[in-house]
Amino acid sequence: MKALVYHGPGKRNWEEKSKPILSNPSDAILRISKTTICGTDLHILKGDVPGVIDGLILGHEGIGVIEEVGSRVSNFKVGDKVLISCITSCGICDACKKGMYSHCETGGWILGHLINGTQAEYVRIPHADTSLYHIPNGLDEETLVMLSDILPTGFECGVLNGQIKPGDTVAIIGAGPIGLATLLTAQFYSPAEIIMVDTDENRLYVAKTFGATRLISNNAIEEIMKLTNGKGVDVAIEAVGLPATFDICQSIIGAGGRIANVGVHGKSVELHLEKLWSKNITITTRLVDTVSIPMLLKTVQLGKLSPEKLITHKFPLNEIMKAYDIFENAANEKALKVILTN
Ligand SMILES: [Zn+2]
Ligand SMILES: [Zn+2]
Repeated sequence: MKALVYHGPGKRNWEEKSKPILSNPSDAILRISKTTICGTDLHILKGDVPGVIDGLILGHEGIGVIEEVGSRVSNFKVGDKVLISCITSCGICDACKKGMYSHCETGGWILGHLINGTQAEYVRIPHADTSLYHIPNGLDEETLVMLSDILPTGFECGVLNGQIKPGDTVAIIGAGPIGLATLLTAQFYSPAEIIMVDTDENRLYVAKTFGATRLISNNAIEEIMKLTNGKGVDVAIEAVGLPATFDICQSIIGAGGRIANVGVHGKSVELHLEKLWSKNITITTRLVDTVSIPMLLKTVQLGKLSPEKLITHKFPLNEIMKAYDIFENAANEKALKVILTN
């Protein structure tokens, strides 16, 4: 089969690899129908994720059809169409029993990180019963690819941890795919204002069409303090992963507010406890657990959520090298999510 293979920092190639085989009785082998590229894949290609070895197939999102199941898989059969969670979970370890699938002792984020991923014609999914989801009839597959990672990430790490409530003033720092996924799912809770902050005018324009009420491209701290009459916001969501964007969050948070960090940080940030200690605020961090996938599937099915709006580019899977070129140049290409069809 063909697959997108990592060969060390800056090196990727679409090449021949052996088709995966069942290695545990709880595994399933899938033929990939749709997959996508994540910002995390670009981090890997920059060499930011040292656990990824030369020769690994990238990708942790997608839709597939079951080709083969191990003897212990009971929830799926050959021919079933399934959604792949970016997080693999056994369902029975201590972390899984707390619903913290991201810290599963024999799973977590392993696809396209520690084991071969989904940017390939076929993939092996461990713990298939608890890591795959049946696709309801009539739902668009490309839309559902957004539920493997970015929608649950925006919702769980941003919206749930930020405890967004009706009437809240929310600021989302970063209008990339994750920030926009947070914006879409924040609206489940009817906040009064959703302020989007980004330096990219096109992304802000997209945010506006997704329901943002205010757009800010520079002087974010001053602008937000002015907008809130000096009080600050109820919820500040960090969706970039840089010291500067975290600093915006701690500068604009109001008394009793919540800072929800979603971004992946490679550098330490300066925490201004000398200003925050008396403000009754909460700061949260989280890896996505994808526990919200069943709920998100229902909301998409009922037309309450339209994540297909995040898809800007489509390619056949065998043109994935070109798709990476576009995604790596996202600002100029106005790219958000890229769909690859096998
Ligand atoms: Zn991802
Ligand atoms: Zn587990």
